[in-house]
Amino acid sequence: MAVRPFAVGIMLGVHQDPRGSVEKCKKVGVNNAQLGVPPDEWLTLEGAREVKRMFDEAGVTITTVFCGFEGERYDDIPTVRRTVGYVPEETREERVRKTLQIAEWAYAMGVKRIAAHFGFIPEDPTDIRYPVCVETMRRICDYLLPKGMTFGLETGQETADTLLRFLRDVGRKNLNINFDPANMILYGTGDPIDALKKVGKFVVSVHCKDGKWPTQPDQLGEEVPLGEGDVGIDRFIATLKRLGYKGPLTIEREVPDPPQTDDMIKAKALLESLVKSTKVKAR
Ligand code: MG
Repeated sequence: MAVRPFAVGIMLGVHQDPRGSVEKCKKVGVNNAQLGVPPDEWLTLEGAREVKRMFDEAGVTITTVFCGFEGERYDDIPTVRRTVGYVPEETREERVRKTLQIAEWAYAMGVKRIAAHFGFIPEDPTDIRYPVCVETMRRICDYLLPKGMTFGLETGQETADTLLRFLRDVGRKNLNINFDPANMILYGTGDPIDALKKVGKFVVSVHCKDGKWPTQPDQLGEEVPLGEGDVGIDRFIATLKRLGYKGPLTIEREVPDPPQTDDMIKAKALLESLVKSTKVKAR
């Protein structure tokens, strides 16, 4: 089922039971969602069929399967640097293998897009780890390409310029961006609206999330309900419209439930009113 541009959806947590996830979609009242990869016991052909059946029955289209890996932690910036994505060397091969397994699982459900945090891509292209990052990303993209699948890089841990250079250096047409404006703030990597303007043509999906800038070195900023942080969510929607963005608006709220579901319901109302009221000035 195609999802219309700017349709509001939600991000469902990594390693959550899909039965609870589909209930969450019903409570928030959305017709599309990004599904965090469920626990391993679901990653079978039968599991794929069962999850597809549940979501179809609820009238919810899964737009993306989001990868997450054992051992990733988001406590503070040094911990993220050490544990997240494909950059840490000790876990890289295992995580690439897991990514391809997740891709097969998504494909079995007819979902043609996966996404992940790559980890801290080195800002300096002469960093000895940089070519390995490029090569790792190519391997994943090349696996996905014959399946007609794409990979979304979650933003936040690097600047817009580094992200653009990485996309260019990887040079694969099925690599693009899942833009999370709050992450740019939480990680202190740059103004999200300026970043969105720079990378806009690669943005295929977004997370609607809000946050406040970090106040201490090495600490992440604070994630807050949509509309209460420093993103400027009205400017974010207006910029997406101006860029001709065609994807859904996926609400992400990374807190326990409660208050997660209630915050998502409020965020949905806010987004729908902004989408309706935001006029795009003629260029
Ligand atoms: Mg996100």
